[in-house]
Amino acid sequence: MSVTLVSPSAAPTTVAPAAGPLDVLGVPGEINLDYAATAPCARAAADAVAELLPWYASVHRGAGALSRRCTLAYERARQTVGDFFGARADDHVIFTRNTTDALNLLARSLPPGTTVVTFASEHHANLLPWPRGSVRLPVPADAGGAVRALDAALTELRRAANPGLPVLVAVTGASNVTGERWPVSELARVARRHGARIALDAAQLAPHAPVDLLALDVDYLAVSGHKLYAPFGAGVLIGRADWLDAAPPYLAGGGATQRVGAGTHEVTWAVGPARHEGGTPNLLGAVALAAVCAALADADRAALHEHEQRLLARLRDGIAALPHVVELRTFGPDAPRVGIVSFVVAGRDSAEVAAELAREHAVGVRDGLFCAHPLARRLLAEAAARTGRRDLPPTAVRASIGLGSTREHVDRLLAALATLV
Ligand code: PLP
Repeated sequence: MSVTLVSPSAAPTTVAPAAGPLDVLGVPGEINLDYAATAPCARAAADAVAELLPWYASVHRGAGALSRRCTLAYERARQTVGDFFGARADDHVIFTRNTTDALNLLARSLPPGTTVVTFASEHHANLLPWPRGSVRLPVPADAGGAVRALDAALTELRRAANPGLPVLVAVTGASNVTGERWPVSELARVARRHGARIALDAAQLAPHAPVDLLALDVDYLAVSGHKLYAPFGAGVLIGRADWLDAAPPYLAGGGATQRVGAGTHEVTWAVGPARHEGGTPNLLGAVALAAVCAALADADRAALHEHEQRLLARLRDGIAALPHVVELRTFGPDAPRVGIVSFVVAGRDSAEVAAELAREHAVGVRDGLFCAHPLARRLLAEAAARTGRRDLPPTAVRASIGLGSTREHVDRLLAALATLV
């Protein structure tokens, strides 16, 4: 697979056979194991931006050749991203800033009276935007428990609430704390059976596995470009047009309107993606995200998956062999995962551990509660109970991998952790 690290100031350092568009940019000597926060930029994204820069002009707002090309590039990007994620004919593909923005847009588009059902294990982006009265299910013990808990909650909701009112289930595809995959298709089937819609937070799943709305049978999908090897500031919400077209515009302003009259409130809002994309859009972000989607669509995803899973197994086996390092997990050791592992070093403050890894070993990881406070706190308590240790710190360290990660990166982290007794 493609693993070329390229520094802006140094010659490229090839550490494995190059494969072009999915090479990631980086700085030689610095080991980035923090992909779950922000993945490095792929060559495909950088090239797409570089190609478009000379044409820099307005989108949907100009008649000149440059502007027309930019408008075309933006709409082609929409098509590519929609196709990549399996958008259906009645879906809108709306560019947003990131997953948080996409889920907030969806939250503002819910029909009145909608109840949202989530799990307490979600990232804050999929916990906090939802309206009062939302149901937050406890963290289940395993994937089957999640399906049963949702079934029971939706049965109860239908009994207690007006059956005519909409219900939206909002779940993640993969946990940003443990990397564990959630049983999305099964949850979607349960939602469907109860007449509910389902939204997928694919921020952590999409960088690691194909995600297809149609195949998973989910209604909405939210993704961040900067976790998918594209630059910051571009994300997407894809999903059913009806709620989105009936909702007030997410950003009122130019571009979101069909007609504005002289009276203060005389406005006819656009329908379609434009309704929620008020203001001049992030053309370069959209084009970069589309370029990565196109490169991933052409790639051998099975081979990428296999490579990542080998590295992940090496990392987890290495951690398991260190008696002073304890992995966090929700579903048990063998649950399917993407390339994310959170752990604690007994007797050591996690912020100090992360700082030392950066300072002494040039290994970049993240520490804290990972914007998933309810889950992270629960898993820290569970790790203390499981191991019987009383010297575990109150926050954790997270290492995450993806395109560009190598055995050497994993081994450097493991060697560094071995010194942290
Ligand atoms: N959902 C999950 C599962 C995440 O891991 C994150 C970010 O870490 C988000 C949502 C929010 O993503 P962003 O910060 O790009 O909006």
